[in-house]
Amino acid sequence: MRKIAEHKKDEFISIASHELNTPLTILKGYLQLSKEALENNNVEETKLFLSRSGNQVEKLHNLVIDLLDLTRIEAGKLQFCHDSFHFDTFIENIQQNFQFTNPQIQIIRTGKADVSIFGDKNRIEQVIHNYLSNAVKYTNQCKEIYLSIQITEKEQIEVSVRDEGIGIAKEKQAQIFNKFYRVQEDSICFQGLGLGLYICAQIIKEHHGEYGVISEEGKGSIFYFRIPINHQMN
Ligand code: ADP
Repeated sequence: MRKIAEHKKDEFISIASHELNTPLTILKGYLQLSKEALENNNVEETKLFLSRSGNQVEKLHNLVIDLLDLTRIEAGKLQFCHDSFHFDTFIENIQQNFQFTNPQIQIIRTGKADVSIFGDKNRIEQVIHNYLSNAVKYTNQCKEIYLSIQITEKEQIEVSVRDEGIGIAKEKQAQIFNKFYRVQEDSICFQGLGLGLYICAQIIKEHHGEYGVISEEGKGSIFYFRIPINHQMN
C-alpha cells in the first residue's frame, strides 16, 4: 500500500516537474529572442517575443496556483471569502479580461443575470476562467467560444461555456472532474496536470451548486455550473 502511494507521488512529481519545465524552457527561449531583437533595434519583434514570454509566465502562474490550491484542499484549508456582488457586472469584467489576453478568440456572450448573488467572487471567477481556458486549449482551429448565462426555474444562476473543439468521449465524461484525471490521448498534445476541473468542482460544491459536462467527441463540449442565488453559507 505504502509502495503504491510512493509510486503515485513520484509519478506526480515527475509530471508536475515536466509541466513546469516546459513553459520555463519556452520562456527562456523567448527572453533570449527579445534580447536579440532589442539589440537589433527591432521594436516590433521585441514586443512580439515579450508578449509570448508573458503567455508562458501566465501558464506557469496558473500551474502554481493549481498546485497551491490542491495542497490547501488536501489540508482542508481552501479559504473562501463570501460577499454580495452583481452577476452581470462580474461576468462583463471576466469576459473583457479574458478577451484581452486571448485576442485570437471571440467570446460570444448570451443571456443575463441582473441579480446580486452571495458567494466568493474570486473563486467563481476561477471556475469560469478555467472553463474558458480549457475551451481555448482543447479547441483546434475554432475561433469562437460561447458563454451563456441564465437564471433557472430553481432560482439558480447557470453559467455555461461551449466550444466546438475536440470534445470528450461519453465513457470518459464521468471522470473528468476527478483529481489528476486527463483524457489519455490528449495528454500528449496538450499540457496540464488534470487539476483545474477538480478544483472547480470543490469551489462549486462550497457554493452548494451543481456542475457537469455535455460533450460529443470531435464536436465540442459544454461545461456548466449552477449556483443558488440566495442561500445561507455554513
Ligand atoms: P488539464 O487541462 O490541466 O489537464 P483539467 O482538470 O482542466 O486539467 O481537465 C481535465 C481533462 O479534461 C483534460 O486533460 C482534458 O482531457 C479534458 N477537458 C477539459 N476541458 C475540455 C474541453 N473543453 N474539451 C475537451 N476536453 C476537455
